[in-house]
Amino acid sequence: MYICILSRLPEKEDVELPELSENKRKFTVLGAGVVGLCCAVSLQRAGFSVTLVDRLDPGTGTSSGNAGLIQIDSVVPIATPGILRNVPSMLLDPLGPLVVRWRYLHRIAPWLARFVRAARPDSVERISIALASLLDRSNEAWLELITAANAQGVWRQSGELHVYRTKQAWEGSRASDELRRRRGSVLEELTVEEMRQLEPALSPDLYRGVFTPNANSITHPLHLSQRLFDLFRRSGGTFVKTNVTGFRNGPDGEPIWLSTDGESLPVDGLVIAAGAFSKPFAKSAGASVPLDTERGYHLWLPDPGVEMRRPIVVGDHKFGIVPMTGGVRLVGTVEFGGLDLAPDWRRADILAKLARPFVPGLNLDGAERWMGFRPSMPDSLPVIGRAPGKQNVYLAFGHGHLGLTMGAVTGQVITGLAAGRSPDVDLVPFRADRF
Ligand SMILES: Cc1cc2nc3c(=O)[nH]c(=O)nc-3n(C[C@H](O)[C@H](O)[C@H](O)COP(=O)(O)OP(=O)(O)OC[C@H]3O[C@@H](n4cnc5c(N)ncnc54)[C@H](O)[C@@H]3O)c2cc1C
Repeated sequence: MYICILSRLPEKEDVELPELSENKRKFTVLGAGVVGLCCAVSLQRAGFSVTLVDRLDPGTGTSSGNAGLIQIDSVVPIATPGILRNVPSMLLDPLGPLVVRWRYLHRIAPWLARFVRAARPDSVERISIALASLLDRSNEAWLELITAANAQGVWRQSGELHVYRTKQAWEGSRASDELRRRRGSVLEELTVEEMRQLEPALSPDLYRGVFTPNANSITHPLHLSQRLFDLFRRSGGTFVKTNVTGFRNGPDGEPIWLSTDGESLPVDGLVIAAGAFSKPFAKSAGASVPLDTERGYHLWLPDPGVEMRRPIVVGDHKFGIVPMTGGVRLVGTVEFGGLDLAPDWRRADILAKLARPFVPGLNLDGAERWMGFRPSMPDSLPVIGRAPGKQNVYLAFGHGHLGLTMGAVTGQVITGLAAGRSPDVDLVPFRADRF
């Protein structure tokens, strides 16, 4: 375990000092992924003193390998009507966009039952409204943090180009696009020529596309986390690199110590932001949540051989072809396989085969594979709020496919609660005890 304590910035910007007792001004954030980092920096900006704890270097877990998309138009949950039709291929096609590993089936079955229930039309409508309540605030929340972290260089006002090669795939996405329009998204339908004007590297052999001009992207997710961590350190934050094994409560039932592989750490306020690993910690805080993981893969192409300006989302196979600093990332897919099964690297490799018909010039030399753990709730909604029955424990996990997109707004919401303000987002859909 090492502890680094860094000196405070001479002056803080934009600080609102809450009127709280001394022990309520101190927070420990468990997990330094993008969600934990956003919570930590947001709390600091409101005048809290923050310790961040992670067994890895900040931002190097799942938050490092994602597609870098700020998907403010992603109001459609992962389970939609018709999901049951996909079950046979989920079980039988190991290379499909959404698969269940046989060895994990018995563990994920209760989660999948809830997932299927969340696909009912009335649930989808309700979930999309809840998602939109956070997504509508996501660009603005990010721009505030990006500016504070002086990280304008990693933010890309790119829009997102969704491309389709077959009429069948295009028609299959009409209902989702309608739902997005109902929630206020701007979607521009494009012909193949129009798409190729935006992205000349695209194949002419496509069917149609949709451009979402208000979506943004990050030039490299790890660079963003590093900039947030720099801001955290400059603002006087303490980072402790250690594995947390649990916490111990005081007589009032609030946690007072984090148990770790090394020394125990004293805690006052606690934010649980350990991504897909949050379940046991939430349970100790009184919240029994159906959190599991949708594993995802990427293939990193360091010498991609093509020029691209913005992220392309392949509608036919549900993955991204995303230009980033230093290469192109082929990224996506969903695999239900828990936290312990070995990666199935064929799922990363298949992305190259699937991407080439869309961007024929891609060069695969030196490709590197990666797998990460989306922290996923069956209804595609995160858990954000105070832990049931606790005064000073907050939950910030379960963001699934949208943890990068919703990181900054989650930090704002948690900070508001910690400072005793009523949230300007309805938090009922994000409660831990909603199931
Ligand atoms: C292939 C793929 C593509 C994606 N694309 C996008 C995208 O384009 N846009 C988007 O918005 N989202 C995307 N996501 C989702 C996004 O990456 C996640 O939702 C997000 O990274 C979750 O962040 P987090 O901070 O909650 O979790 P993590 O990044 O997993 O961070 C949790 C941290 O907690 C730490 N931790 C856990 N347990 C312990 C312990 N016991 N002791 C100490 N530390 C601990 C971990 O080490 C880790 O650093 C994608 C995900 C994948 C897999």
